[in-house]
Amino acid sequence: GAKGRGGNRVQFYGDINQHVAEERMELEADLKVAIKKGQLILHYPPKINVATQEVMGVEALVRWYHPKLGLVPPSKFIPIAEETPLISELGEWVLRESCRQNQAWQKQGYTPMKVSVNVSPQQFKLQNMLELVQDVLQETGMAPEYLVIELTERMLMDNSPEVSSVLKGLLELGVSIAIGDFGTGYSSLAYLGKFEATFLKIDQSFVSGMLTDKRLSNIVNAIIDLAHNLGMKVIAEGVETSEQLDYLRGQGCDFAQGYFVSRPIDERAIEDEFLTV
Ligand code: C2E
Repeated sequence: GAKGRGGNRVQFYGDINQHVAEERMELEADLKVAIKKGQLILHYPPKINVATQEVMGVEALVRWYHPKLGLVPPSKFIPIAEETPLISELGEWVLRESCRQNQAWQKQGYTPMKVSVNVSPQQFKLQNMLELVQDVLQETGMAPEYLVIELTERMLMDNSPEVSSVLKGLLELGVSIAIGDFGTGYSSLAYLGKFEATFLKIDQSFVSGMLTDKRLSNIVNAIIDLAHNLGMKVIAEGVETSEQLDYLRGQGCDFAQGYFVSRPIDERAIEDEFLTV
């Protein structure tokens, strides 16, 4: 052991880093298998129309049933996947599965609704998203009007011509674009002038504090006005109380999601609780 030798401490921290690195490598190896073995599942938080309370769609959020670790949340494995080409495989699976499920619901006679899919910036760089979306829509038979691609501000920040042309192509196809995490750290209004996203999402950090902090409610009001002036609809994220929903309704917010509407739930629970014929 290192005991009694110089550099003892360095070795100690080194061992910890080694351990973390090994754990990551193991998780990465497991994730490769997980995609193939069907260990990934989707949970769907519903989104409602604030004025009518009708369900307008669901978002697809990925979870991983790990054979040893149990249910692993996306915050634990998406960042790891993002550092490898695995993010493309994972993203492709999420896109295909959510379109397949939504089309299956339509085939069963439920009132059609939209499904939103998160796409990470790394996936956008690695894959031809326009081609992939076209392929998946064709394969699953789902009409483009029912697909929403969710991006973060972070992705639009780098302002690359490739990204804009893919986004324009998606919009021309009839797919909707939603911008999430709006206002949280990568603020640049420039990209909002460049293309017309369909939806702007108000981040849950603003929603959760807006009834107790006047500054936050002012920001929420401003985002709603800004979005509407630019021809976008607004989706509030992380709505947890009826008071928050009432406030948003008063401000003309279009759609809402969050624990007050429902926690993210599996497809059976969506069918039982939210779909209508
Ligand atoms: P996000 O897209 O911002 O998703 C919202 C997160 O907040 C979800 O956590 C959701 O369960 C949680 N949430 C929803 N409503 C409420 C609420 O009212 N209160 C509170 N406190 N939390 C709420 P989740 O499912 O753990 O997802 C975390 C993040 O992982 C997502 O953040 C998204 O960035 C990423 N993610 C999930 N699925 C995918 C995916 O398929 N692809 C990619 N690229 N990223 C994904």
